[in-house]
Amino acid sequence: MKIFNPANNTLIQEIETDTKESVAQKVESLKVGQKAWQAVPLAERLGIILKYGELVQDKIEDLAHILTLETGKPIQQSINEIRGANNRLVHLEKHAIKWLSPEVMTEGPTREVVEYEPLGVIANISAWNFPYNVGYNVFLYALVAGNAVCYKPSEFSTLTGLKFQELLWKAGVPSDVFAAFIGTGEVGQYLLESDLDGYFFTGSYETGKYIATQVAHKLVPVQLELGGKDPLYVMDDVPDVKQAAINAAEGAFYNNGQSCCAVERIYVQDGIYDEFISAFVEEVKGYTMGDPLSKDTFIGPVTRSQQVDLILGQIKDALFHGAEIRTGGFRTEGEGNYIVPTVLTSVNHDMRVMKEESFGPIIGIQRVKSDQEAFELMKDTDYGLTAAVFSQDQDRARAILDRLSVGTAYWNCCDRVSPEVPWTGRKNSGLGATLSYQGIRAFVQPKAYHLRG
Ligand code: NAD
Repeated sequence: MKIFNPANNTLIQEIETDTKESVAQKVESLKVGQKAWQAVPLAERLGIILKYGELVQDKIEDLAHILTLETGKPIQQSINEIRGANNRLVHLEKHAIKWLSPEVMTEGPTREVVEYEPLGVIANISAWNFPYNVGYNVFLYALVAGNAVCYKPSEFSTLTGLKFQELLWKAGVPSDVFAAFIGTGEVGQYLLESDLDGYFFTGSYETGKYIATQVAHKLVPVQLELGGKDPLYVMDDVPDVKQAAINAAEGAFYNNGQSCCAVERIYVQDGIYDEFISAFVEEVKGYTMGDPLSKDTFIGPVTRSQQVDLILGQIKDALFHGAEIRTGGFRTEGEGNYIVPTVLTSVNHDMRVMKEESFGPIIGIQRVKSDQEAFELMKDTDYGLTAAVFSQDQDRARAILDRLSVGTAYWNCCDRVSPEVPWTGRKNSGLGATLSYQGIRAFVQPKAYHLRG
C-alpha cells in the first residue's frame, strides 16, 4: 500500500499490507494471548497502559510529525491532539479500578456479587481524523479491561497505527495481545469474517451500517461511532457577537472541519445576523493556510483526495440553489488537496451542504427569525451526534437542546469531548457509548455470582 502526503501528493512510504492468511494467524495468536492477559492483575494492566502514555509524551514531537505527514493535520494541532488524548489515561487511572472490580451487591446467606470479565478478542476498526482520540477511546480501555485488540488503523493513518503498536509493546503489552492490521477496507473485511468477540468501529455511517449488518449474526457487542451534521444556533442575546463568531468559526474549521463533532451548519438569529456574518468572515479570512509542518498553519490540506470532490460538489449545488459565497469556494492551484475555507450564506435545507456531512473546510450559515424556526431546522437531519446553542440564557438554550435527539448537547461551547461524560451518537451517528464509566464498562461483560454457604 502506498502512503501519500496530502499536502503535496508525494509518496511517503510503501508498506506491506496484511493478507487473509496473516489476519487469521494474528487472530489465533491473540486468542491465546488474551487468556494470559486476562490473568494479569487489573492494577498491573493499568500500570502498563500508563507507562505507554509516558512513552508517547516523551516522543510527542516525532509522533506529531508522523501524524502531520500522513494526514495533513497542522503540526500544532497534531501536538494538541497527542497531548490532549492523554486525558484518557488520566481518566483510566482515576476510574478503571473502581468500575472494573467485583461488586458485592448483597451480604447474607446468599452473597450476590457481580464480576466484570473481558469480552475476549475485539476488533477496533478506526478512523484517521483524530487517530489518538478515537483510537484511545477503544483500544486503551479494552486493554485495561483485559481484552486483546485487533487494531485496524485507517489506511490514511497507518504509520500512526504502527507507532501505537510499537509503543504499546515497548510499555509491556505482549505482542499477542495487541496487533495492528494494515491495509484498506479489505483487511477490515477479513476482521468481520474472523471469529471475534466484539466490534468497535469509528468511521462513516455507510461503513458502520455495513459492519453492523455483516456481524449481526454473531450476537457479539457492536459499537459504532459515526458521522454527524452538527448544528449550532446563535441567539440574538449573546453578549459578544464577535466572540461568538470567532468561537463558531473555530468549531467549524479546526482540523479543517474534519472532526466528527465539527460544527457543520450554523443558524443565526435575525437581530445579530449581519454583525455575526461580517465577524465570522473576517475571522475565516484571517486563517493561515499552507504547509501543515509550519507552526503558523491553521488550515492544512484535506486528508482524502475524494473528499475534495465531495466538497466542491456541495459548493456547486449550493450556488445552483441560490447560495452566496462570502469567502473561499475553490481549491488552490498546484500540489496538495487544499480547499480555501469556504463560507456560504443564503443557504437552506434544499442544499446538500446543509443536509449531508461535509467533513471539510466549508460551512453554511442560515438566518432564522425565532427559536422555534431554529429548532425545526436543527432537528431536520438523520444524524444525532451533537448540537450547540450560544446564548446568555441557559433556560432558553435548554428549551431547544432538551428536545433534540443527540448524544451531546453544548451550551456556549462546541466541538469538544471529555472522558468524564459518555461519547455517543444517536440515529445515523452511532450505537453505544465510549468514555465515562459506560465506556469503561463497554469492554466487559458482567457475570452474576449467587454464593451460598
Ligand atoms: P470510513 O468509514 O471510510 O473508514 C473507517 C474505517 O473502516 C477504516 O479503517 C477503513 O479501512 C475501514 N473500512 C472500510 N470499509 C470497510 C469494510 N468493508 N469492512 C471493514 N472495515 C472497513 O471512515 P473515515 O473516512 O475513516 O472516517 C470519517 C468518518 O468517521 C466521518 O463520517 C466522521 O464523522 C466519522 N467519525 C466519527 C467519530 C465519532 O466519534 N462519532 C470520530 C471520528 C470520525
